[in-house]
Amino acid sequence: MKLTDIGTVKELMGENAFKKQFGQNFLISESVPRRIAEAGFAEGVLEIGPGIGTLTRELCAHAKKVVAVEIDTTLLPILDKTLADFDNVKVINNDIMKVDVAALVKEEFADCKEVAVCANLPYYITSPVLMKLLESKVGFTSITVMVQKEVATRLSAPAGHETYGALTAAVSYYASVKKLFDVPAGCFMPKPKVDSAVVKLTLYQEPPVNCQEETLFKVIKGAFAQRRKTLVNSLSTVIGHIPKSALAEIITSCGFAEGVRGETLDIHAFAKIANAIDAYQA
Ligand code: SAM
Repeated sequence: MKLTDIGTVKELMGENAFKKQFGQNFLISESVPRRIAEAGFAEGVLEIGPGIGTLTRELCAHAKKVVAVEIDTTLLPILDKTLADFDNVKVINNDIMKVDVAALVKEEFADCKEVAVCANLPYYITSPVLMKLLESKVGFTSITVMVQKEVATRLSAPAGHETYGALTAAVSYYASVKKLFDVPAGCFMPKPKVDSAVVKLTLYQEPPVNCQEETLFKVIKGAFAQRRKTLVNSLSTVIGHIPKSALAEIITSCGFAEGVRGETLDIHAFAKIANAIDAYQA
């Protein structure tokens, strides 16, 4: 069965409509699923949103075990058919946002040395899914995902770039990001309005900076909450216990100009400021 064939996809879907609310744009390219599976290889692979199983089958051909979490119950009988040739896959019918990822990995991948995530992500929840996977601290070796091209640019943007934002800074605490390749809209059925790209997040064994996570993420969140404001003005709304004048001193004592804006700072700069905030005594 060739799942990248439009006629086969239509036949498998039958009466089922492609559900826009679940971001259902299925891959009909032969090379893209193989390239994702090769780039994201690990013994154990967690897939989010298998759809009709196009990427899943490639993952099964490479990995020792694949667990695929799919929200749409109507796709389950289709996946039964398309994955029938493989005995190393388990499909779980659930919303990934409701799954206890750490518990799932512990239960399903006990006999796998390394576990990675591979997915053609549903675009309506790209950022929350990525943050959930990273914050779960499961020790995934990598996360190789298809995202909107614009999100791929944002994820790999350096500090100061126009697309650099809170997501970029937060992700850079957990992983290095590499854009692997672009995927044109014609590689999907139905064809989406946007182009896509595959990115690989390689997770750090140890964080690249040493500081209190809670303060660091407060600073990052605050810094990007009001983009056109200076850092001192943005932080004064989220760091309530330190007067604005003292926050200005903290920022300059860390070596930054008083009028610096958050979008020009990288993770090392944010960590330096977070540590100075934690060391502050009135
Ligand atoms: N992997 C398939 C492919 O590449 O052809 C399908 C990818 S499609 C872009 C996204 C898939 O994620 C759909 O199958 C959709 O039903 C599923 N999905 C959407 N929201 C989800 C959620 N919250 N949890 C799990 N799966 C979800």
